Amino acid sequence: MNLGGKADGKPLRVSTIAIDGPAASGKSTVGAWLAKSLGYLYFDTGVMYRAITWAALKRGMHIADEEAVTRLAEEVRIVVSRPTEDDGRQYTVLADGEDITWDIRKAEVDWAVSPVSAYPGVRKALTAQQRRIGQKGCVVMVGRDIGTVVMPEAHLKIYLTASAEERARRRHVEQIARGQESDYDEVLRDMKRRDRIDSRRETAPLRVAADAIVVDSTSMSIDSVLAHIKGLILDRFKMLADAGGPLVECQQGL
Ligand code: C5P
Repeated sequence: MNLGGKADGKPLRVSTIAIDGPAASGKSTVGAWLAKSLGYLYFDTGVMYRAITWAALKRGMHIADEEAVTRLAEEVRIVVSRPTEDDGRQYTVLADGEDITWDIRKAEVDWAVSPVSAYPGVRKALTAQQRRIGQKGCVVMVGRDIGTVVMPEAHLKIYLTASAEERARRRHVEQIARGQESDYDEVLRDMKRRDRIDSRRETAPLRVAADAIVVDSTSMSIDSVLAHIKGLILDRFKMLADAGGPLVECQQGL
């Protein structure tokens, strides 16, 4: 997909893209595809909240112990890099050097991650790291508060959503395909619970940024979602070009 342009011989690009939305709304599929098409960095911020949650569970901490979990978030070194194994992973996640790429997808993490993410100190520690990544540009960043808090200046903000039933169905199918045990009703219950905590918390709740474009994929195929988003990018590129900017040299990419 050619989304680059030139102004006075310099590259002209939509350089920072924020994708937010509830669990299993298709953010990672869309984000990864977009980043690959553009040659940008794909960064899934949910991975960081999951990594802290996994590290806390592994150390036997009580998730309700806000002080201990916050201290952990300030201390643990999380590294997200290109895949180091050929086992279907999109990236490798290390916490203090330990490969936790698959551990962070476990049901106990799904269960505990929203309460952990609601702690202001945890958010402060992780948001600072996410902003540093965003400031380099040429990034597609995915999460719950990217367009509202982490990158409020993003050139394009997409809020991707779908009904809870459709999201649960997709997650259920995904888990079965991965060979995991999965019960649709349980997946749906957990999804609604996470939506509730994520959108009601005081710090950086899940909500639509004022300037975000909402895409409801409930009755759309993945191909039509991608085609629609490609159209949004091209429109935004044209809008930015007409307005005379921004001029961006990519410093990072896949
Ligand atoms: O996107 P994913 O489902 O992997 O995110 C796991 C959890 O991490 C979310 O349910 C939410 O509680 C938290 N999260 C967040 N802010 C982000 C990304 C994820 O609070 N930017």
